[in-house]
Amino acid sequence: MKPLGTGSEPIPSGPWDVVVVGAGAAGLMTCLELPDGLRVLLVNRNTSQRSSSRWAQGGIASVTRRDDHSGSHATDTIHAGAGLCDGDAVRLLVEQAPHCVDRLLELGMDFDRNSDGSLATTLEAAHSHHRVLHVQDRTGHALVDVLRQHAEQRPGLLHRRGVRVSQLWVENGRCCGVQVLDGCRLQWIRSRAVVLATGGGGHLYTNTTNPAQAAGEGIALAWAAGAAVEDLEFVQFHPTALKLPGAPCFLISEAVRGEGGRLVDAAGNSPVTDLPGADLAPRDQVSRALLKSMRLQGIDHIGLDLSGIPRDQAERRFPTILERCRNHNLNPLEQPIPVAPAAHYWMGGVATDLNAATSLPGLYAVGEAACTGLHGANRLASNSLMECLVFARQLGAIDLPAVSEDEREHWRNRGDSISTSEIHARSNTSIGELTRSIDQLSEQCWDVAGVNRSRAGMQTLLQMTRSAMSPLEREELLCIVHRQSHQQLLELEEPSRQELNLLLDLIHRQRTTALLLEACLFRTESRGGHFRSDAPCSLPQWRRHSRQVRGEGIQTRSVTE
Ligand SMILES: Cc1cc2nc3c(=O)[nH]c(=O)nc-3n(C[C@H](O)[C@H](O)[C@H](O)COP(=O)(O)OP(=O)(O)OC[C@H]3O[C@@H](n4cnc5c(N)ncnc54)[C@H](O)[C@@H]3O)c2cc1C
Repeated sequence: MKPLGTGSEPIPSGPWDVVVVGAGAAGLMTCLELPDGLRVLLVNRNTSQRSSSRWAQGGIASVTRRDDHSGSHATDTIHAGAGLCDGDAVRLLVEQAPHCVDRLLELGMDFDRNSDGSLATTLEAAHSHHRVLHVQDRTGHALVDVLRQHAEQRPGLLHRRGVRVSQLWVENGRCCGVQVLDGCRLQWIRSRAVVLATGGGGHLYTNTTNPAQAAGEGIALAWAAGAAVEDLEFVQFHPTALKLPGAPCFLISEAVRGEGGRLVDAAGNSPVTDLPGADLAPRDQVSRALLKSMRLQGIDHIGLDLSGIPRDQAERRFPTILERCRNHNLNPLEQPIPVAPAAHYWMGGVATDLNAATSLPGLYAVGEAACTGLHGANRLASNSLMECLVFARQLGAIDLPAVSEDEREHWRNRGDSISTSEIHARSNTSIGELTRSIDQLSEQCWDVAGVNRSRAGMQTLLQMTRSAMSPLEREELLCIVHRQSHQQLLELEEPSRQELNLLLDLIHRQRTTALLLEACLFRTESRGGHFRSDAPCSLPQWRRHSRQVRGEGIQTRSVTE
């Protein structure tokens, strides 16, 4: 089999062996690890290559040094996870991580090295050893380039950009395909399995380090299809995102503090001096300390002073960060740069087992969209890219349902029975109003379900979100999406396509925000990335995962030792 080209002709409606949704580290690695001989369709919402994976700066965690060992990596992970890490997921990650590093080296990943040729490693918060591998401060960029080059060469793979999955196809309790919006075309695609690698949900919040498509869409899709989602209340807020009026919250990697950067307020005092570990204390603690200090002083940022890092070392290790600061007329090696907390990583997601399988047969999830139980209530820095790789690897043993000869014949002839119709429906809501509603929701989410949460604000927003969903669900364009028969291909006009994209953005964000709020309200304690000012302590009875399934009340699941 050859790679199947990348043209803009309609995507063959299947049956594919596997549809992979998302082309970040998780989706690309999945494409590389799926067994040979499968026909794989890789779809990616973006037309560009933008993804959280590509934006990752700090690095990838793995034991590679002789003075380090997997037990220590496990202990650090479990410690950061604040009692909620599943032991089997942690063991899998720390044991498989060095093999994934070998695999990356084989693929040509050019990690930074020491003068003796050994792999260079840095220290990040809550790691007890230098174990974070990097390529300067553009590790994600280098990783995605290597994975993409190899994935696109995979025989039998078709990679299509600008294709958004709008619904999962569920038949007889099994996921067997996806509905996609491919430009102006809305169609169903059949497959033996679907892998969600749609990333996280930082963009549910107005202040975030994530790219725009990271708004938890995979979670909305999986939940609507009946798959369980877990631990949605746990969001990691990164303490140091660039804070400049009108500029995106560009991440200033923790590695900057690992190499000697220090947080300072306007008077030159450290706002984290009382925390064990100070500048390198866990991210949630640092974020809260910064917000407290900012609030007390009535300011919207704290300084990050890089003067403690030798100049040539800073230029060598952080060229992207320094360039970005200089583009904003900052002089990062001379003056502290303004930073503030921002939503960064979602520990919760679609619940998966060690084989990346969700609770819905035929549906798998990998990467930030998944909740493997590895991170518990808080992620250890740089474990997430490794999680993408380790769990994608597990899909090398994917168990696909057999397809009978009759079924194949049916699908071969299916093209003849597909009818094409044009859609002229338009939204009742203008593009401006839809955009404003999206922005407003993310601002409200930041205000009530951000670094500091409390019951009253979250309850009000939950009610408002639920009430806003009902009229939206009645929008004709969304009804058309939900009613489309599997035999239909629908062609939309350009204005309807734009409106439908925004309607899907809004309804999926509302659904995911509502799930997030329900989980935050349910957990009446504080732990890891979930801090409630009205319940500031961790309680032993809450040492359980939260679990949400459509049509069932929110429940808990015990932690696997
Ligand atoms: C700025 C930044 C720095 C980071 N630094 C580090 C680091 O140093 N180390 C580390 O371990 N982690 C880091 N992280 C976290 C890490 O990058 C992410 O957890 C990881 O890259 C997630 O990879 P992913 O493949 O799951 O998702 P992503 O890389 O976000 O990819 C998701 C893909 O899904 C697609 N998609 C989404 N919805 C749909 C849909 N409906 N239909 C079709 N396609 C869809 C998107 O277009 C995208 O291609 C960082 C994150 C950010 C934002």
